[in-house]
Amino acid sequence: MAILVDNTRMPALLRRFVLIFPILALFAAGVMACAVNPVSGERELALLSETDELRLGQNGDVDIRNQYGVYGDARLRAYVQQIGEQLAAHSHRSQLHYTFTILDTPDVNAFALPGGYIYITRGILAHLNSEAELAAVLGHEIGHVTARHAVRQYSAALGANVGITLTSILVPELANRSAQSLFGLIGSALLSGYGREHELEADHLGAVYLARTGYNPQAMLDVITLLKNQESFEKERALQEGREPRVYHGVFATHPSADQRLQQVVVQAENDRSSTNGRVERNSFLRRLDGLAYGDSEAQGIRRGNDFYHRGLNFTVHFPDHWRLDNSPEKLLGLSASGDAVIQMQAAARGKARTPQEYLVVQMQVHDLRNGMALTANGLSAYSGVTRMQTPFGLRDTPVAVVFLKQQAFRFFGAAREESPAFQRAFLDTVQSLRPLTATQQSLARGMRVDVRTAKRGESFARLASRAPLKHEPAAVLRLLNGKYPDGEPTAGELIKTIH
Ligand SMILES: [Zn+2]
Repeated sequence: MAILVDNTRMPALLRRFVLIFPILALFAAGVMACAVNPVSGERELALLSETDELRLGQNGDVDIRNQYGVYGDARLRAYVQQIGEQLAAHSHRSQLHYTFTILDTPDVNAFALPGGYIYITRGILAHLNSEAELAAVLGHEIGHVTARHAVRQYSAALGANVGITLTSILVPELANRSAQSLFGLIGSALLSGYGREHELEADHLGAVYLARTGYNPQAMLDVITLLKNQESFEKERALQEGREPRVYHGVFATHPSADQRLQQVVVQAENDRSSTNGRVERNSFLRRLDGLAYGDSEAQGIRRGNDFYHRGLNFTVHFPDHWRLDNSPEKLLGLSASGDAVIQMQAAARGKARTPQEYLVVQMQVHDLRNGMALTANGLSAYSGVTRMQTPFGLRDTPVAVVFLKQQAFRFFGAAREESPAFQRAFLDTVQSLRPLTATQQSLARGMRVDVRTAKRGESFARLASRAPLKHEPAAVLRLLNGKYPDGEPTAGELIKTIH
């Protein structure tokens, strides 16, 4: 969570993961054309021109940066951009302007928007062990862009839906439904991959670009192995914790590294360039990861169970027991275990408002505030009331509150499937739990970091894990991070990653 720049009145709840593209406009205009695919050289139906593609990319880029935040290490950012540009220069669409962005999230993912916008999370970076592996991830994403997978997917989906659209112009609900399914399709393809054929093609193109740039294309297989391991470990853990797994693309279950066709595409790339001796760059890469943020971002706030700690804004807040916290740059969201209730919190500049009550009316423009009540939260002044608004559960009377802490205004909204006194109490308890960090809580607001060091003789992951602030199966986590899962050990003298 960061301080909001704008002062929008009622930000839509649960906006995360909905990427909005101006697809419908294109749909309505009925732009249909044949275009030559840059990779295959074959003509194919394309409903989007290169200009459309760039516009889609530009719009989506703004959303993605806002949603995740960009990771702040300028040197690492420049490095990833440089490696990406080298690969792109050897790609089938070298004339495009590519941007490579590190997203500030522990999610393990990488994805591409049409037009050359490529994203890699710091969560996936922490799992890589050489420059060649980084190049493999970037090369795969460049492959999605050069083979125009997003464009082909839109075109196939739109083509299949032409009948529906023509009739649905007269039936607005239907039009909305088909728009919904398209947004859903595009959003899920971006974050979860494009299906097996396109993924394999992207792997192949990635391996080709690796070879052409002088890297060993075997890195593609290494990356797939390590991400497969991460996926199976993470899925089991997410199941235990009752949350969505943080995995890359999510296609590896159907995409084994021993896959014959995958082996073939890599071997083919090698043969093309006879580059089995290509560069790997292990040590220089690992040194760059030293100090990389790991897990929750200190800049966006640290979750510990149902408690939240923010160093920059100097506060902590406590959500009801067994609630799950979902944090993004624009908001912190608490979700009840059953998913029937949410409390959203945001920090914004207090501005000229003298009291929380005035802030609610003037800054947030809540004009129908009822049951207004002045509160104190650990000595901080606060105000709460009820307003009618659109929520994920429909139009509801929902509690709203503001707490002042120095120059910040903390805004809270609540929404429940069933309104109840218990939910009202849970809402107010959450609001009134907000307080500045105490001296002892300062350390709880500190984020974890990757520490790169030389392994000593006889060093084991079990011993390194005993000193790492990792809760769940720390030795397995360290093995995953070092490409030594499930049972490898450090070799004396090699660089290894640990967490501190
Ligand atoms: Zn992919």
